[in-house]
Amino acid sequence: MSEQHAVLRYISPGTWALVEPLFSDKGKKVLATLIDFVENDVIPNEELYHSQIPTDPSKRWKSTPPVLETLKSRAKQLGLWNLWLSGGEFQYLAGGQGGGLTNLEYAVMAEIMGHSSIIAAQATNCSAPDTGNMEVLARFGTQQQKDKYLFSLLNGETRSSFSMTEFGIASSDATNLKNTTATISGDKVTLSGHKWWISGAGDPRNAVHIVLAITDPSNPSPHKRYSLVLVEPKQQGVEIVRPMMVMGYDDAPEGHCEVKYNNVKVDVETGIVGGRAGLGRGFEIIQARLGPGRLHHCMRSIGVANRALDLLLLRVTDPVRKTFGKRLHEHGTVVADIAHSRAEIDQARLLVLAAARQIDKHGAKGALKEIGLAKFTVPTVALKVVDRAMQVHGAEGISQDQPLAYMYGSLRTLRYADGPDEVHIQQIGKKELKRAEELRTRAGYKPNAGAKAKL
Ligand SMILES: Cc1cc2nc3c(=O)[nH]c(=O)nc-3n(C[C@H](O)[C@H](O)[C@H](O)COP(=O)(O)OP(=O)(O)OC[C@H]3O[C@@H](n4cnc5c(N)ncnc54)[C@H](O)[C@@H]3O)c2cc1C
Repeated sequence: MSEQHAVLRYISPGTWALVEPLFSDKGKKVLATLIDFVENDVIPNEELYHSQIPTDPSKRWKSTPPVLETLKSRAKQLGLWNLWLSGGEFQYLAGGQGGGLTNLEYAVMAEIMGHSSIIAAQATNCSAPDTGNMEVLARFGTQQQKDKYLFSLLNGETRSSFSMTEFGIASSDATNLKNTTATISGDKVTLSGHKWWISGAGDPRNAVHIVLAITDPSNPSPHKRYSLVLVEPKQQGVEIVRPMMVMGYDDAPEGHCEVKYNNVKVDVETGIVGGRAGLGRGFEIIQARLGPGRLHHCMRSIGVANRALDLLLLRVTDPVRKTFGKRLHEHGTVVADIAHSRAEIDQARLLVLAAARQIDKHGAKGALKEIGLAKFTVPTVALKVVDRAMQVHGAEGISQDQPLAYMYGSLRTLRYADGPDEVHIQQIGKKELKRAEELRTRAGYKPNAGAKAKL
């Protein structure tokens, strides 16, 4: 029976044998339904989706592709809504429309979504940055904030942004952030600042920005100086300056925008995440937000890489494409590229699954090492696979006639988004180094006699 599961079209029997015992019957059923939805509803509508985004700059940011609403309704009907909402904790908020899955189950499902990443994730209400923002509101928002912003996000009626990175500031070290301040006077907050790369800020459905701002500049602990401010994009003083381009793509209608907040007024109770009690908790809250979100990106990236490998296989076995008397797959370098791609995707997936399992067992805080490992490994692996797929397509591979260039651009961004690789590499390296002392003791290690030490 397990041999028959449709997921075996995507992951190896060995990997499925490892995770299948951790899947509930419901999880297996949802996975099969999702595969059918992605294969038969989402992928066949990709061209239509892109054709429904206007090329005219004056209209490009004013509407969303109508086919997306059709796909969202279908996903809801099929029980494929809010799959990211794992565990039982916040199911009540979603009115019975949350996934209720484990992170491990969701990891495999997000990989499937990665085969048509932008559309499948949106169609099932599993897109960044909304998932992380919903989590912030669910965990830390007041009831009033939940009523105002969370439920419409859970229903897929609105979108949101997370606004942290600052224009002109090396923002990967969050303690550098200084150009966005929220000044408190009695019950009122005045927000001023200049951010950029704010995903989703171009979207006409956007209903809320969660903005990291300094509220207590003289607090001796740099980590207690910041709070999260809730701002509505149509409010006076919110200025969407321009969409940034990622290697020539603007990701309309969502975009990644430069945004200025010019003396935007909110109330402390409604405008600070958690109300007055949330003051100074900005860093603590964003840590809780970023862990699972980083892993969701990794999960989908595996799917992107797998789809690129599928495209590679289709191209190199095309009977009419011969070079130097051979079909492409008969050249040794191409066969090696296929083998390396398969091996690297399967390795990367195991890292992701291990991190997801660790979150299930010990929460996001207890899985920081596993999430970090996946975060800096998976996008690079996926990029290598996409690069090989581009190469076998010749010049067409980097053109608008193939999805590969877009895949490359969006995967490349993941080496910065949610923190650059180097920051995660440094943290993992430091964690590994902590093992050295115990190793030395166990080995009876003596200085200058390391080569003779026995473990
Ligand atoms: C498509 C896209 C979408 C994004 N969406 C959002 C969003 O929605 N909201 C948001 O707030 N931000 C968003 N970002 C911004 C992203 O989070 C930042 O770009 C990232 O955190 C890095 O900050 P920075 O660009 O200021 O780089 P900097 O801090 O200037 O760092 C530059 C480089 O320095 C190097 N570096 C940094 N630290 C170390 C170290 N410890 N060791 C060695 N080298 C190091 C790295 O190579 C790094 O890339 C997005 C970015 C992209 C590309």
